[in-house]
Amino acid sequence: MTARVVPYHCPYCGGEDLRPYAPELDSTGLDSDVEIKGGWHCADCTRVFAVKYHGMAAAPQYPAPPTD
Ligand SMILES: [Zn+2]
Repeated sequence: MTARVVPYHCPYCGGEDLRPYAPELDSTGLDSDVEIKGGWHCADCTRVFAVKYHGMAAAPQYPAPPTD
């Protein structure tokens, strides 16, 4: 198991051009209202999102299908 992999698709538009998001400064300060660090920026829809880990959960148990 790898420690961590990067997202391959934007969860909002499915775009594949994702870059690590780092707020850039201009003459007025931040160039956006996004307040997170460590997120991902989608070049297709311009959304910034983060992937959050919530914990581990057991796989759901389903009854075996009938055999006859
Ligand atoms: Zn997108």
